[in-house]
Amino acid sequence: MPRPKASKPEEPVKLKVKKGDTVEVISGKSKGVRGEILSAFPKENKVIVKGANLIVRHTKDKPSNKPGAAGSNRVIKGGRVEKEAPLFASKVMAVCPACKRPTRVGYAYKEGEEKLSRRKYRVCKHPDCGKSLDV
Ligand SMILES: [Zn+2]
Repeated sequence: MPRPKASKPEEPVKLKVKKGDTVEVISGKSKGVRGEILSAFPKENKVIVKGANLIVRHTKDKPSNKPGAAGSNRVIKGGRVEKEAPLFASKVMAVCPACKRPTRVGYAYKEGEEKLSRRKYRVCKHPDCGKSLDV
């Protein structure tokens, strides 16, 4: 039975990389930087990569409002703070944990499982590797 073609609702972009992955930045000012993904924002198609896309923030000294610090005149010291800014997920490539090369991400299914419950997992696209990226 042919199903009526329903127009797909807007889905959040499925990122091929996720928190905890090691990635390499392939374009922009942090090109070549390798680091771990600290946060992923699938809705914005952005990720924060440790040590990449650093921005410098200048902060002022401000009084600490930590409990217990009353009367001790504690301040949070301001200064120059380097912080990672989100970058587009399309600017990074997953680094394969097996061959240590940046790779495009492919998908495969775990064999021997029921079709409905089988798990999709990510694989390295290098033809001489093909190892799972989800270790
Ligand atoms: Zn590989």
